Amino acid sequence: MQDPFSNAMAQLDKVAKIKNFDNDIIARLRQPNRDIKVSIPVVMDDGTLKIYEGYRVEYNNVLGPYKGGIRYHASTNISEVKALAFWMSLKCAVIGIPMGGGKGGITVNPKVLSKTELEKLSRGWVQKLSDIIGPRKDVPAPDVNTTGEIMAWMADEYEKITGDKTGAVITGKPIENGGSLGRDTATAQGGFFAFEALKEQLGLNKKCNVAIQGFGNAGANAAEIWQSAGHNIVAVSDSKSGVYNPDGLDVEKLMQFKKDSGAVSGFIQNGVAVKSISNEELLETDCDLLIPAAFENVITEENADKIKARVILELANGPITSAADLILFNKNIVVIPDVLANSGGVAVSYFEWDQNLKNEHWTHDEVFEKLQPMMAESANKVFETAKNSNTDLRMGAFILAIERIEQNL
Ligand code: NAD
Repeated sequence: MQDPFSNAMAQLDKVAKIKNFDNDIIARLRQPNRDIKVSIPVVMDDGTLKIYEGYRVEYNNVLGPYKGGIRYHASTNISEVKALAFWMSLKCAVIGIPMGGGKGGITVNPKVLSKTELEKLSRGWVQKLSDIIGPRKDVPAPDVNTTGEIMAWMADEYEKITGDKTGAVITGKPIENGGSLGRDTATAQGGFFAFEALKEQLGLNKKCNVAIQGFGNAGANAAEIWQSAGHNIVAVSDSKSGVYNPDGLDVEKLMQFKKDSGAVSGFIQNGVAVKSISNEELLETDCDLLIPAAFENVITEENADKIKARVILELANGPITSAADLILFNKNIVVIPDVLANSGGVAVSYFEWDQNLKNEHWTHDEVFEKLQPMMAESANKVFETAKNSNTDLRMGAFILAIERIEQNL
């Protein structure tokens, strides 16, 4: 399978062919400013020592301090983190916030650690990287398998080391630790605002059947938001498998079921067992809107031809390979790309950072009143740019972002 950084660079090659950018800007975007690997020793509960590998990639800070989440996963590696940091650089530029792109991670399956071990590991990441992160330098946030609680441990560790009390070193914190209202649902809500802005142009101005891969922060919130707007959630999946009901799933009950049982599979609705499907089948569901909200590289040359959705909205980062993009484009399937569709998360992270530095606390309404126009304007601008260059929305977003970075060099 193509590694995520090669996929990101294939996307960069593609935009360089479509738009006559100066070679220098493309060359700059081919490399991160720096990528750092650290080893993090943790004394486990049984007294043994384990060494974990951690990362921070600072990709580009032309527009402002590096910004991007920290991922905990057994398969996380430096290539994946580099790709995610590259996409963060473009994402911040697409939505016009004064932030650059970064990303971090640790190769670990956090589900097998005790809470004490997880806290030591998270504090250890900050101990090793406290020199390079900071409110005006590099501001991490949560990503897959990292939570508000982990962000609070990290902010506390940073304060202990540096004395900085603003909390602005890290976003995605719980509200009582300086987090922003709305951050928990921001990624899905931002995706919804982008969808609303584009739905007419995309022919989806109607009640849509929606399939969602991933039922975590991005996916489960998306299911709730689209359902409360009157759409029909026909399929969802998690890492184990999925469920499918053409008449619509009851999202609230499904969330409770997943909380109790740990999986979506086995869900019973109105006394009837809901049909189980595999993750592959979920992606091939006949629907109006498909929302990948789990991992990279799930739609590839192998399955792109089998996709039946009319529109794909990428809440996950990098779910579609460059080769698959071409197949989908030729099938007239529109992709609302990650660098636009999931940028609501970093937008509200930026709002949190801004509130921390100004010692302000915005209401939920204030946060979404700022997010909605930001997403709608960016979505329309991406659409227009793509149309003017006769290309897809991903390339439209890349052109817009690279132009903005280039203008600020
Ligand atoms: P999460 O850990 O909360 O949820 C991930 C979900 O994906 C879980 O339901 C898990 O069961 C499921 N999953 C894992 N492996 C899977 C597989 N092979 N097939 C199907 N489902 C699988 O993570 P999240 O924060 O929701 O992030 C999901 C995606 O959204 C990632 O690509 C992340 O980078 C992206 N994203 C998240 C945010 C955010 O604010 N949370 C912001 C921007 C982008």
